[in-house]
Amino acid sequence: MVQTEEERKENRRKYQQKYRQTEAYKESRKKGEVNRKKYFSSEQYKKKKKEYWQKEGKTVRRKYFSKPEVWKNTQVVAKKYRDTARLEVLQYYSKRLSNSDIPCCRCCGLNDYLEFLSLDHIPGAKIMDKIPELIDLGYSSELRNIPLYKWIKKNNYLSNLQTEYFQILCHNCNLAKGHSKDNKCPHEK
Ligand SMILES: [Zn+2]
Ligand SMILES: [Zn+2]
Repeated sequence: MVQTEEERKENRRKYQQKYRQTEAYKESRKKGEVNRKKYFSSEQYKKKKKEYWQKEGKTVRRKYFSKPEVWKNTQVVAKKYRDTARLEVLQYYSKRLSNSDIPCCRCCGLNDYLEFLSLDHIPGAKIMDKIPELIDLGYSSELRNIPLYKWIKKNNYLSNLQTEYFQILCHNCNLAKGHSKDNKCPHEK
């Protein structure tokens, strides 16, 4: 009698099941496991792995993150994280003025959209590079976005310092202040 494809598969499955019960199989599994562990903890493997990542890491990572599903998810997570970190900072500095959780521009009071608000370096980002108490805390004008929010939060919003270094302004006030000669928004004059 000729076996059908289904029957052949079924027989094969039964055979494998039976084989997995044997001592010989269990023994070889154990041996394999020991060898694997030995290999993965060997210096030789670590060296190989390091070399591989040095050589191929960039390509592998790029390939991985360019998959649409990964890319999309990473973007979503990053955006969520960025938004949260940003919101916390916006809220903290706005609170002094607004007395509420709604962030607003310290100069004109604008508060209808978060997107219109920005974190202003009061003396100027570059000038702050030369201020000793900020240098001590690891400040750099290179810090932007998440790393900057993280740094601010880590340093307790600089609330221990006498001088105010950050405030929330809308983009209009911030830009106008930046372009002015006296570091003031036209609203203040
Ligand atoms: Zn404003
Ligand atoms: Zn203004």
